[in-house]
Amino acid sequence: MFLTINNIKKSFGSGDSRVDVLKGINLSMERGEFCVLLGPSGSGKSTLLNIIGGIDAADEGDICIEGERMADMKEKKLTAYRRKHLGYIFQMYNLIPNLTVRENIEVGAYLSDKPLDVDELLHTLGLYDHRKKLPNQLSGGQQQRTAIGRAIVKNPDILLCDEPTGALDYQTSKDILKLIETVNQKYGNTVIMVTHNDAIKDMADRVVRLRDGMIRKDYRNEHKIPAEDLEW
Ligand code: ADP
Ligand code: MG
Repeated sequence: MFLTINNIKKSFGSGDSRVDVLKGINLSMERGEFCVLLGPSGSGKSTLLNIIGGIDAADEGDICIEGERMADMKEKKLTAYRRKHLGYIFQMYNLIPNLTVRENIEVGAYLSDKPLDVDELLHTLGLYDHRKKLPNQLSGGQQQRTAIGRAIVKNPDILLCDEPTGALDYQTSKDILKLIETVNQKYGNTVIMVTHNDAIKDMADRVVRLRDGMIRKDYRNEHKIPAEDLEW
């Protein structure tokens, strides 16, 4: 198995204000799988993505990538791992304002040993004609495309997407999700995505539902997901 998440537990605070957010999460993923993570607000979706991404540490449990425990990686290796193998896409694009589209994407290739061809990527993202523009000359959708380019130019093994279309209108969101699907199919990155856009149900290989700190549902390669499990 490419990625295994074993009995991850995470709490915040202490005493009376302690919240047990993740109470033992188990999940295994194949390379190239496209997984959507659903759950009510506050159910720990971002916390789980941050733990997988090495941004936050779990209290218990471990994450293995190709059989290697993240906890056993030395700081240096973990940093290299994050830089080379993980791509992150957030609701906020955080582009560098004084760099062009092309330059913002190139920033993501820094330190990668297997970067994608930037021109080809600009074409895939529908940004080639906009490559010389600055972020403030772009629409929200174009800015998010640029952020996707920055995240995937290093050709990461894992692409973590935390509500990537949260700031966009429905149709633009759909286009962005389709683009992430295209990227997943073209480059084979394993995708874990949190989204509230229902268009995702036709794209994902797998839908995982988080509730009360546990995974309550896990649908794999099934297209008939009961409607109540697609409510956010
Ligand atoms: P989701 O992304 O599903 O909306 P989060 O993972 O952001 O949920 O948050 C889950 C719970 O953990 C929430 O109750 C939130 O307030 C709490 N939480 C998240 N991060 C922190 C933190 N750094 N400190 C304290 N509480 C936090
Ligand atoms: Mg969140």
